[in-house]
Amino acid sequence: MKKIQAIRGMNDLLPEQSSLWQYVEGVVTDILARYGYQEIRFPIVESTELFKRSIGEVTDIVEKEMYTFADRNGDSLTLRPEGTACCVRACEENGLLYNQTQRLWYMGPMFRHERPQKGRYRQFHQIGVETFGIQGPDIDAEVLVLSARILRELGVADDVVLQINSLGSSDARLAYKTALVEYLSRLQDQLDEDSKRRLTTNPMRILDSKDANTQKLLDAAPVLLDYLDEESRVHFDGLKSLLDAAGIRYQVNPRLVRGLDYYGKTAFEWVTDKLGAQSTVCAGGRYDGLVEQLGGKSTPAVGFGIGLERLVLLLQAVDVVPVGLDQQADVFLAAVGNVQPIAMQLAERIRDELPFVRLLTNCGGGNFKSQLKKADKSGADIALILGEDEANAGTVSVKFLREETEQKTLPFDEVIAYLRSLE
Ligand code: ATP
Ligand code: MG
Repeated sequence: MKKIQAIRGMNDLLPEQSSLWQYVEGVVTDILARYGYQEIRFPIVESTELFKRSIGEVTDIVEKEMYTFADRNGDSLTLRPEGTACCVRACEENGLLYNQTQRLWYMGPMFRHERPQKGRYRQFHQIGVETFGIQGPDIDAEVLVLSARILRELGVADDVVLQINSLGSSDARLAYKTALVEYLSRLQDQLDEDSKRRLTTNPMRILDSKDANTQKLLDAAPVLLDYLDEESRVHFDGLKSLLDAAGIRYQVNPRLVRGLDYYGKTAFEWVTDKLGAQSTVCAGGRYDGLVEQLGGKSTPAVGFGIGLERLVLLLQAVDVVPVGLDQQADVFLAAVGNVQPIAMQLAERIRDELPFVRLLTNCGGGNFKSQLKKADKSGADIALILGEDEANAGTVSVKFLREETEQKTLPFDEVIAYLRSLE
């Protein structure tokens, strides 16, 4: 029979990889806890309307990339393409935004129907951070300092660059858009096809075009930062001086725009040159208008999303994956002969008394040699060998699998004391 396969662009994460993912997730969520951020979880499926109203009707995500389907009662539902809109929906619905500030994070799969390639998938994973209720640039700086720490503690600080920009107020963007459209309309025939279309639908996204010729035309285009309103300019200057004080290096990139309509004022990306075209590892910005746009009270907000696949690829590309992550066990307990009851008692005793030991036991029988093979494959440094003679005497043999230390036979108590001494 023909085998059923996974959906294109949606990956399985196998055991040899999952330990690296757990390591990355652990580093990130530890740091988030150290900054006082709390986890929020929300569903993977939401009303389609939520994303249309937040991300914007004329964005790539809403126009081309959403997994949208009719529920059995006809409601239009969508697999979440990002987390910010969901987070705002959940916070608003549960009264988390009223007269208080929030510093939140979430982690999980997102879905976009894009062309799958390295670093770009149809199901991918993000760790997202969202803060609410804080207006000043201090919180923008905090989320950037926090993201910088994540990248630094994972060992990729030298492989990423922080780019920042200010998108200004909506009035400033409107004025800028008019100027940009006026400038580009004169050069319309020279633009790439996507940009031509965007000239009428979403002109600021042209700044983001990957087309070399379009980028050249943009060299003489009006610059967004020249159109900033006073409030946004003060905010941006405030952010820059806080970053300077914190020793965070950055480049101001006046062409940095985000693919989601809800951003205003601060926008930023951490980019790398180690992953080819999929260069953005972490991206975010301020979205003070979104809560109101979704029916809540006007609430300042800033956040970012880290693409976990890209972050893991980056760690691998620059060779900073800690060694031994995929080791399955520290100790392997071989049980040779009719000793299962005692083997199980000993194993459980070790797990009670030495919770830091990863103990893999032999199941399914097998002779001494085949069990030692399994011990070797598990990556364990030590094999405990329980044969019938040992079991009768209440002892176990300790065999070193990776070093030239002589095997020894010890009573159970002493084995436990010995393993404890190794920690
Ligand atoms: P890109 O410009 O690369 O398409 P984006 O602007 O669409 O990214 P965001 O919506 O801001 O990305 O998402 C934040 C992060 O999530 C990105 O910086 C990236 O690391 C990751 N990401 C986005 N889309 C994908 C995808 N299809 N596959 C893997 N990771 C992704
Ligand atoms: Mg995209």
